[in-house]
Amino acid sequence: FNTASAAVAAATEEPIQPPVDVKYTQLFINGDFVDAASGKTFPTVDPRTSEVIARVAEGDSEDIDRAVAAARRAFDEGPWPRMTAYERCRVLLRFADLIEQHAEEIAALETWDSGKTLEQTAGSEVPMVARYMRYYAGWADKIHGLVVPADGPHHVQVLHEPIGVAGQIIPWNFPLLMFAWKVGPALACGNAVVLKTAEQTPLSALFVASLLQEAGLPEGVLNVVSGFGPTAGAALSSHMGVDKLAFTGSTGTGKIVLELAARSNLKPVTLELGGKSPFIVMDDADVDQAVELAHRALFFNQGQCCCAGSRTFVHESVYDEFVEKAKARALKRVVGDPFRSGVEQGPQIDGEQFKKILRYVQSGVDSGATLVAGGDRSGSRGFYIQPTVFADVEDEMKIAQEEIFGPVQSILRFSTVEEVVRRSNASPYGLAAGVFTRRLDAANTLARALKVGSVWLNCYDVFDAAIPFGGYKMSGVGREKGAYSLRNYLQTKAVVSPIKDAAWL
Ligand code: NAD
Repeated sequence: FNTASAAVAAATEEPIQPPVDVKYTQLFINGDFVDAASGKTFPTVDPRTSEVIARVAEGDSEDIDRAVAAARRAFDEGPWPRMTAYERCRVLLRFADLIEQHAEEIAALETWDSGKTLEQTAGSEVPMVARYMRYYAGWADKIHGLVVPADGPHHVQVLHEPIGVAGQIIPWNFPLLMFAWKVGPALACGNAVVLKTAEQTPLSALFVASLLQEAGLPEGVLNVVSGFGPTAGAALSSHMGVDKLAFTGSTGTGKIVLELAARSNLKPVTLELGGKSPFIVMDDADVDQAVELAHRALFFNQGQCCCAGSRTFVHESVYDEFVEKAKARALKRVVGDPFRSGVEQGPQIDGEQFKKILRYVQSGVDSGATLVAGGDRSGSRGFYIQPTVFADVEDEMKIAQEEIFGPVQSILRFSTVEEVVRRSNASPYGLAAGVFTRRLDAANTLARALKVGSVWLNCYDVFDAAIPFGGYKMSGVGREKGAYSLRNYLQTKAVVSPIKDAAWL
């Protein structure tokens, strides 16, 4: 297949010098940037070239202990849970302002460390972080308990209190957004936080932690520990001093952290995990529009999205036309240096993911799917992969069952609504689904029949601050964003007292 395009040339050009310096590489504990207790560091790598950007302090269980102790002190003795909700709101609002003031620097750092296009980080993700922070700032002074009726002469108050020290573990595919989804609600509710970033992308969280301190967050309320999963991540998950754990990452690791939490202090756990989301194109669809939306649903963020529309189900009546056009669209996709404007797709995050994706491509070929575009690396260095499209994909193939987490679209054929519902739901995952149709009845039927946490009708990847997000089945436990995320960071306390000599009860 001829997959040569302008894209490949772009990927082999000299990398653009990122317009930012790396300021923070130490751990952020108790309001200070400090070395790891062991003195160890690890490299964070530029996915465009596989060169080292910086060496970062490598946190381990001793550093997690220090961070949890700082958070505990900040929560038990410090001003944060004791200040008025309006004061907490104002700290978060100032933080959002500072993010906007430093937006260019933050976006460049995120692009450098992750390979996301600058158009995506500067144009959408950094503004969204500020937006989420303002959304949660708005919640800070609207969290309150209630009074419920009692059968006897009792006054019953239900208080909503912060839960205490929240442990949070985030992945590399949306480092800043995951920071916002997790830290925003935890702080709005008055908690203290220990956040462990992904080892591939430690830089942006350290930078914004310094801004949160500048905004007036008291010391110890937010601690950021860079480090690896089996060491720092496991220590946080099993820590007896952590009152709640929130995790985003793979389903396999989600099971591990849930078990660690259960074996230690039974801390409540919320999990945002993997997916194999269907994108369903019905027979009445405008094929050009459907192709474009399905393309974006899969290829966005280099295909590294938990909710990527990674099973493109197309009705048999439009299937052949769809495949031809999906192929043409993929061949036109501009792959290249994520700092260059007009580039749609940067490199994958690291060598491990790069090799894993190419193994899935090989498995698709071996199992008899038809490779219609891409299928190989793009350029000769870094972790770029050609936009890849498979047609004639069958349900039992590995590429239709497992999360590839890369720019590989799998197109499957279907005949009836009942069939596509059954096949879509025949997955251990249940994160999201897209439906493309002009028929209201079909849209309503599918929206209710699909066992997933988000259904996008004639759109995809719409992530507003107030929209809850999370998975059915093995895609997760609990919901993040919106008012739903506040439940994850609050305890509920009933306070009962007798009512004497009341005129009414
Ligand atoms: P991962 O599970 O390997 O890593 C996620 C985080 O967990 C990292 O910070 C890592 O250091 C940590 N970790 C790894 N092993 C650990 C352990 N034993 N104990 C504690 N922490 C540990 O996943 P990844 O490869 O970084 O991310 C890709 C996966 O995440 C994909 O499967 C994707 O679907 C999923 N994901 C889901 C969502 C969502 O919102 N549902 C969002 C992003 C990514």
